[in-house]
Amino acid sequence: MGSFAVSAGPTATCHLSTFRKYATGRATSNAANGLRSPMTQHLRPPALAAPAPELIDRLAAIVGPEHALTDPDQQLPYLREWRDLFFGRTPLVLRPGSTEEVSRILALANEARVGVVPQAGNTGLVGGQTPFGTGTEIVLSVSRLKQVRDIDPAAYCMTVEAGLTLAECRAAAERADRLLPLSLPSEGSCRIGGNLATNAGGVGVLAYGNARQLALGLEVVLADGRVIPGLKALKKDNTGYDLKDLFIGSEGTLGIITAAVLKLFPRPVETATAMVALSEIAQALDLFSLSQETAGRSVTAFEFIPRICVEFVTRHVAGTREPFAKAYPWYVLIEISGAKPDGQAAREMEDVLGQAAERGLLLDAVLASSLAQARDLWRLRESISEAQKPEGGNIKHDVSVPIARIAEFIARADRIVESICPGARPLPLGHFGDGNVHYNVAQPVGMDKQRFMELWEPITGAVHALAAEMDGSISAEHGIGRVKRADLERHKSPVELDLMRRIKAAFDPNGILNPGKVLS
Ligand code: FAD
Ligand code: ZN
Repeated sequence: MGSFAVSAGPTATCHLSTFRKYATGRATSNAANGLRSPMTQHLRPPALAAPAPELIDRLAAIVGPEHALTDPDQQLPYLREWRDLFFGRTPLVLRPGSTEEVSRILALANEARVGVVPQAGNTGLVGGQTPFGTGTEIVLSVSRLKQVRDIDPAAYCMTVEAGLTLAECRAAAERADRLLPLSLPSEGSCRIGGNLATNAGGVGVLAYGNARQLALGLEVVLADGRVIPGLKALKKDNTGYDLKDLFIGSEGTLGIITAAVLKLFPRPVETATAMVALSEIAQALDLFSLSQETAGRSVTAFEFIPRICVEFVTRHVAGTREPFAKAYPWYVLIEISGAKPDGQAAREMEDVLGQAAERGLLLDAVLASSLAQARDLWRLRESISEAQKPEGGNIKHDVSVPIARIAEFIARADRIVESICPGARPLPLGHFGDGNVHYNVAQPVGMDKQRFMELWEPITGAVHALAAEMDGSISAEHGIGRVKRADLERHKSPVELDLMRRIKAAFDPNGILNPGKVLS
């Protein structure tokens, strides 16, 4: 099946023999783990104490009754994530209002050996931010840490607390005429503490790097309550091990990030946006290389989209339309930004498109001639998640491979998926320049959704094994959480896993921070 095939007809079935061949997960009881999906990695947190009523009272006293939630209705937004894949239980949600309160909470929890699940915006996609179904872990939300402590436009940096949403941080930078380039579709809800804890990526990574590259300093509370006062705005600091980098991407397992110093950039004053049609995804590599040669760091996005995504979006999302009069197999959305209002971005884009046409790299191209047209092109890309839902079950992946092997990865993954579930519809899209393929798979037309979702482990296991075999990563930007824990153990080398466990033990000897996430 081609990667953009649309339907397999109502009689599509799955080969159970292939299912078994690729089955890699272990079956466990999901109910006890608060897990509603068929993902069944071994999910039990290490044995920790349930908080005694007296401890709950002492913890609640730290934040005050208004911010210590024991009522299940009030707790609900902290226990359920938006896709409804995970649903946990907790005796207490705490919403501290300062770093000092976070410190006091952790010191007490550590003394009593009670698990603490850090949470920011609750938009994570790997189940890291919700407690298990055991009802023994406390949830600590940083959502009240909302101060912009400092913005220094001349030094191009800002100091923000962990509970500000990414959109609020971007808006604060913009008010100072600066750009915070981290940009995710979830930016209205995700919070900067969560972005750093997951080392979030998004569409701006190509030009500006991921969350890690944007963090100059961090304030972190350790499991025992001690605070690392690391809010330095230094680009150069070679004073031994970089502890800050260990917390970034550690998904709440090593410490709680309470504030950060972030790098800012000049705001681009003009952008040129184009949609390019390709006959094969392999051509995207030459087009990408050409765009880098021609426009270098001014290329601020290079996103690839298969035909099926455009079909889904135009079918299900109101106000979207085909970018071309004809349908094409692949599309690439390119954005070039300029620092001056001198038309340079548009000239560079025209240069890229002109050369690409001469070299036979593209079938067609449309260059947005207004902001509204540029927005329409971006909407096609940004509406893909929304458009997948009405098509039934979806099995999603967030892998990366060397960019020269993206086309090979997609072709091989398509064949594997077809062998496990004939008629399943792959939607491989993503951030080409980062080698990041969101290899999503929609269920065959007419298949029962539940039966398709039961193929989660064989499909995901096989796609992850392929990415690993191709020198790639099983998690490019979403993290490990609980969803990919077993696959991490499968694909990380024993020596790396050993070091990760030692780091965890050094930072959190009692294992109270986000137990059972990332590592077993
Ligand atoms: P949460 O979900 O609350 O937490 C995520 C993890 O971090 C958990 O393990 C939690 O325990 C830990 N954590 C949270 N706060 C802290 C803290 N202060 N200190 C220590 N640990 C903490 N991600 C991308 O990278 N790129 C994308 O393009 C992208 N697109 C998305 C689109 C949609 C529609 C959605 C829903 C999600 C998307 N995501 C994307 C995933 C998600 O938004 C990111 O992972 C985000 O960085 C999570 O931030 P959060 O504040 O919601 O964190
Ligand atoms: Zn992404």
